[in-house]
Amino acid sequence: MNRYILFGGVIITFNRAQPVLEDQAILVEDGLIKQIAPLESFNARECERINVEGKIIIPGLINAHHHFYSTLVTGLGKAAPSKDFNQVLENLWWRLDKKLLDEENYISALVSSLAAIRKGCTTIIDHHASPFAVRGSLGQIAKAVTATGIRASLCYEVSDRDGAQITGEGIAENAAWIKSCNANPDEHLKGLFGMHAAFTLSDDSLGKIAAQVQALDCGTHVHAAEAEADERFNIDHYGKRVVERLNEFGLINSQSILAHGVHLNPKEMMLVAEKGAAIVTNPQSNLNNAVGIADVCKMSELGITIGLGTDAMTVNMLEELRVGIWAQHLKQNDPSKGFMELASALFFNNPVIAQKYWGKGHGMIAEGSAADLVVVEYLPHTPLDAETWIGHMVYGISQASVSSTICAGRILMWNGELLLDLDETEVKARSRELAVALWKRF
Ligand SMILES: [Zn+2]
Repeated sequence: MNRYILFGGVIITFNRAQPVLEDQAILVEDGLIKQIAPLESFNARECERINVEGKIIIPGLINAHHHFYSTLVTGLGKAAPSKDFNQVLENLWWRLDKKLLDEENYISALVSSLAAIRKGCTTIIDHHASPFAVRGSLGQIAKAVTATGIRASLCYEVSDRDGAQITGEGIAENAAWIKSCNANPDEHLKGLFGMHAAFTLSDDSLGKIAAQVQALDCGTHVHAAEAEADERFNIDHYGKRVVERLNEFGLINSQSILAHGVHLNPKEMMLVAEKGAAIVTNPQSNLNNAVGIADVCKMSELGITIGLGTDAMTVNMLEELRVGIWAQHLKQNDPSKGFMELASALFFNNPVIAQKYWGKGHGMIAEGSAADLVVVEYLPHTPLDAETWIGHMVYGISQASVSSTICAGRILMWNGELLLDLDETEVKARSRELAVALWKRF
């Protein structure tokens, strides 16, 4: 079905100029939103019509920083108690990622993508690590993303922590993936050049990465100043702060994503703003790891595009948004601050970031935009209009069920039922088998 009309629902567009549309129908054709107009204006027998009366239509949500690879950790209780962020990395994530092989990489992305569909998230910007299965790892993730019909930008997080050979493999995997995206354009799959973080990369490695980034003319995706220790390490070993050091290698450009930015100083923030890079805040992860709360208000004031990611804590973007707002109130010690900064991160800035890779209109409901649409079971109990829609998103729609998810015009889930060529029950069964084996090796 590549041509149909969705009608009857109230449309929330994520377009500041006209955020709420009533009595309008959406004509979807060849993966795009072809036309938005009253239902009567369409030819009666033109194509199939789908009634979503009493529901809300929103754009497919975007997760601007995620780790598919963490999926098999759910319920793993073996990690030793961690007293700081470096211990969290050493006791959990750097033990886990060493055990991930091709099938774990594939199934992790598959399970997480299916969960994302169920929560109305259709675009994921991922950051991957599997140091003992680097080569082809992004291809495994791509295979899963393709099977589920969502969209993802992939990268491999290069790091020196497992030795020079694996650093080289990580560089090669990013380069190969980006070249393959350039050679075979696919509207579902994009690539960035991934780095773990400045504190796990030597100058020599940053130099090698920089040469590739320059040659490929691509964006970068890196954890930056997630914990104070990242800044401390770079100051102690290189005499520079994180952003200054990355910038000296030319690794921050207008296509770049810096995840977290919790401990950036104003000078670093201004440098990020000047470069036109985005900072993606991940509030639940930061609270969970007790690394601090990013000063999203300050960074927004400086004109930085602040996006919202989940850092794999959830695939539910509206849950992440809510926690981000409460955390920012606490950070600013003022419950009137931070609401619009966080809401803008998800509703306006994540689309701005995704549009750098997917093109104009991505993440918004507008004529000519990609038909990434989500239907939510939500009948408003107070007026829903241009003045109130953000409040409804945060306090109401976030608590409602996603009934249907569409990506590039393809219906991936309808009324809670996945319409894919794979069996979710079988996928989960295989995932449990792999998790049992992985946990034994952990
Ligand atoms: Zn992360």
